[in-house]
Amino acid sequence: MNVHSSSIIAAQGVFIGNRWAPAASGQTLQTMAPAEGVPFAEIAAGDKPDVDRAVKAAQGALAGAWGRMSATERGRLLTRLAYAVQDHAEELAKLEARDTGKPMKQARNDMVALARYFEYYGGAADKVHGDTIPFMPGYFVTTEHVAHGVVGHIIPWNYPAQMFGRTVAPALAMGNASVVKPAEDACLTPLRIAELAAEVGFPEGAINIVPGLGEAAGAALSSHPELDFISFTGSPEVGTLIQSAAARNHIGCTMELGGKSPHVLFADADLDVAIPVIANTMVQNAGQTCSAGSRLLVEKGIYDEATARLAEKFAALRAGTPEMDLDLGPVINATQKKRIQRFFDRAEEDGVPVLSRGQVADGVPEGAFFVEPRVYGDVPRGNDLAAKEIFGPVLSVQRFDDEADAVKLANDTDYGLMAAVWSHDGNRALRVSRGIRAGQVYINSFGAGGGIELPFGGMKKSGHGREKGFAALHDMSTLRTTIFKHG
Ligand code: NAD
Repeated sequence: MNVHSSSIIAAQGVFIGNRWAPAASGQTLQTMAPAEGVPFAEIAAGDKPDVDRAVKAAQGALAGAWGRMSATERGRLLTRLAYAVQDHAEELAKLEARDTGKPMKQARNDMVALARYFEYYGGAADKVHGDTIPFMPGYFVTTEHVAHGVVGHIIPWNYPAQMFGRTVAPALAMGNASVVKPAEDACLTPLRIAELAAEVGFPEGAINIVPGLGEAAGAALSSHPELDFISFTGSPEVGTLIQSAAARNHIGCTMELGGKSPHVLFADADLDVAIPVIANTMVQNAGQTCSAGSRLLVEKGIYDEATARLAEKFAALRAGTPEMDLDLGPVINATQKKRIQRFFDRAEEDGVPVLSRGQVADGVPEGAFFVEPRVYGDVPRGNDLAAKEIFGPVLSVQRFDDEADAVKLANDTDYGLMAAVWSHDGNRALRVSRGIRAGQVYINSFGAGGGIELPFGGMKKSGHGREKGFAALHDMSTLRTTIFKHG
């Protein structure tokens, strides 16, 4: 794919059985370059017939060369794909940056993480052991982790490449065959990665990609009667539809949904360390990160100092195009931009003060989807700014009285994806971390470079199931118990 600025690139269609083809309907969709506000790519509008073909190809892979491969051989292929990603990192980063609008340095980091997913799961593929279980005399009992079969993956637009690595790499490591429905807003890197996978030797049908609209290709995939498992990352609303479809087909699923993750900042925290991390992780990917630390809860005694420092950081932030490579890029589309503006308007009506705002850099194209980063102070409890997932570069700050109040406030959300506790009192930090209902809780840090080795996923409405680490390998497989009566 050629990624020159201001030209519309044509992605080659659906990728099934290691071959490109147009969508069965012949229809295409246009996607936009968010940092330019102009059409960027023409993608296949996949639908049910394409999904049917992809599921058949995946079943063929399981019955053929892919299904016969040892775990070690699968691991080697994943490792080769990691190297291929490294070799094509700059090309992939440019594609990702133009498709999503994110700064080049961030797109480059995303490709480092992508390669790491394939490297990590390549190494792990032949290290998933079962148990032997003491049972009655005359019996020998073992368990083993076996592939589900055909796994459907529905992924969002915020990190198309990383999401692909996060969900597909452990599925392949366990010997599943994958059918991926990337997001209609940004799907070019998943298509290119699948092509690289074919080049490094993945057999036909192991990885299949059907781009298209959620209500067409996505719905066809999630309701496909021959799917064996489904992994979804996206909004809670669509997660509900997909879980209903999985329930109708009696298959398992993992749900990685949204978040409203809190930073709990105690008066004894090191603000020199905490404040830059809090500001940076909030504007990363223009706040379009499910695990963004979008709520800052501050112990009342340091509220003024913490917010003054934060205001200074936010005032220095600049949003720009991928090539400008500033602190953040635009949001993904006009709808998201309008949605964020509505939060700003409502905050004004509610009289919530803006503590500080960054700026959109001079010279960004007219019509691009930029939003100025903002921090809101003294956000009333229950206000939308503190309760709803905005998915934009917006931080809400609230104050708390004491430890018990901090835990109460941290849990005052439907979500439970990630949290951070900032304090030099280790006992208190650990106590508070245990009171917070979230799948990952950091103490004196946040995010930790992607943490591919660390199980990640939600509690409450943030979803269920785990990605990353060995936990993902367990979710991407099912357990077979063999009971051998040897007499
Ligand atoms: P979305 O739920 O609208 O879309 C996600 C994917 O689902 C896309 O591929 C889309 O085409 C597909 N889809 C849409 N309707 C569908 C349907 N009826 N049937 C099947 N598939 C359908 O979400 P979004 O707006 O693209 O992404 C933003 C949301 O995703 C946010 O809420 C964010 O928090 C969440 N998210 C969560 C994580 C996580 O790991 N927890 C990661 C990224 C994004």
